[in-house]
Amino acid sequence: MKSNVYDCIIIGGGAAGLYCAARLSRSVYSGKKVLIIEGGTRVGKKLALTGSGRCNLSNTEIDASRYNTDDTFKLESSLNRYGCLETCDFFENILGVVLEQKGTLLYPATLKSSTVVDALRFYLEDNKIETVFKQKVVSINKMKFYEITTDTDETYLSKNVVIATGGITYPSTGSTGDVVNILDKIADSSFFVPFKPALTSLSSDIPGIKGLAGIRCRGDVKIVNAGGFVKAHSEGEILFTKEGGISGICVMDVSDAVVRLIDNGETGIKAVLNLTGKSAGEIFQMIYIRRQMYAHRNCADALSGMLLRNITDFAMKQMHLKCDKMTLRELDDNKIAELSNLLCAFPIPITGYGDEDKAQVSSGGFKLSKLDDNMQVKSCPGLYIVGEAVNVNGICGGYNLQWAWTSAALAAESISQNV
Ligand SMILES: Cc1cc2nc3c(=O)[nH]c(=O)nc-3n(C[C@H](O)[C@H](O)[C@H](O)COP(=O)(O)OP(=O)(O)OC[C@H]3O[C@@H](n4cnc5c(N)ncnc54)[C@H](O)[C@@H]3O)c2cc1C
Repeated sequence: MKSNVYDCIIIGGGAAGLYCAARLSRSVYSGKKVLIIEGGTRVGKKLALTGSGRCNLSNTEIDASRYNTDDTFKLESSLNRYGCLETCDFFENILGVVLEQKGTLLYPATLKSSTVVDALRFYLEDNKIETVFKQKVVSINKMKFYEITTDTDETYLSKNVVIATGGITYPSTGSTGDVVNILDKIADSSFFVPFKPALTSLSSDIPGIKGLAGIRCRGDVKIVNAGGFVKAHSEGEILFTKEGGISGICVMDVSDAVVRLIDNGETGIKAVLNLTGKSAGEIFQMIYIRRQMYAHRNCADALSGMLLRNITDFAMKQMHLKCDKMTLRELDDNKIAELSNLLCAFPIPITGYGDEDKAQVSSGGFKLSKLDDNMQVKSCPGLYIVGEAVNVNGICGGYNLQWAWTSAALAAESISQNV
């Protein structure tokens, strides 16, 4: 009969779980029994979706200030101990994945996330790491060993357990916030920050916004509360969504702040958008020159070389003007100034945010401050929590996967010294 006793059991075969198993195989763990319990039918389902299928796996400018957590000091020291350089070394020299840098972002040179999933999968097969599928862990009991029970009524025992069950986003990939339920006999609510969507889209009911669906602008976004204070700011591409709202990397990067404001009951939140990537003074000059050149054309046509028609139409409607009925000659200096200011600081009332089906990452999870420097639950030796299940979430650009690699590597190093 096959023994159900293991040296280490990893719950969840996502980025963090797979990396932890790979790091364990690399260390003194050879010959030890390691099991991955995966609730789904295959490993790395979410990892395969990352970076629009290209997997932005790290960033050369990883820095704790780009993350949200309850313990910035521990996060900083963790990233210093195992950061981008160590990750690249492992991917290139052990897993055999050639990496490519685009700006500060790191990708597999194939620009295919399946390369990363396969490299981890093959390495685990080579090192005889066992994986069981379609078994969702439902509870852990702390006895002499940790006793793990699944929804298929299997029971497993291990001295070391790593929980790598992810957050709550894209639940179809298997991440449904299970860390909270699995640990209900071990950790009460004081160990957790509730999971919320982060890196998500924002919705608005401003008239005409749905007409901008699919349009992208390079600019910036400021989140301003009802008191007029800027709560978050980011630059980059803004994408208008078909649901009536905004998304894109810079919007996702400020979405965490909006989720907090809305969930704290604040109203009157605005996203102030620069839709041009330029200053209002520069835009004024550009329109002014065009008025000299194309005074007879309607505004939409006259400005079409510098602004998308839908944007001109959207902005001029806010001024109660019709861009296709009015010539540029009729736009006096005051109106040009008003239009320029609007295009560079367009206030959009925010009415909500994309739920966990749309968000790329969750905020919340097991508090980092309740873990030791190696991601071990302080009150439970041998029990580790890694990846998105921990209360650490970063901005777009490889920060979240880097956290998965970092936390997994630190746990693996500690476990390998404990057996
Ligand atoms: C569309 C999209 C694009 C993204 N792009 C990027 C990017 O380019 N760069 C970046 O840095 N980050 C990106 N992210 C975020 C990144 O994918 C996650 O932060 C990362 O995958 C988290 O890894 P994890 O292993 O902690 O969790 P997950 O990858 O979510 O893995 C958790 C695993 O645990 C399993 N599981 C859950 N509960 C149980 C249970 N009870 N029993 C057994 N198994 C269980 C799940 O089935 C799953 O396989 C993206 C996310 C999304 C959704």
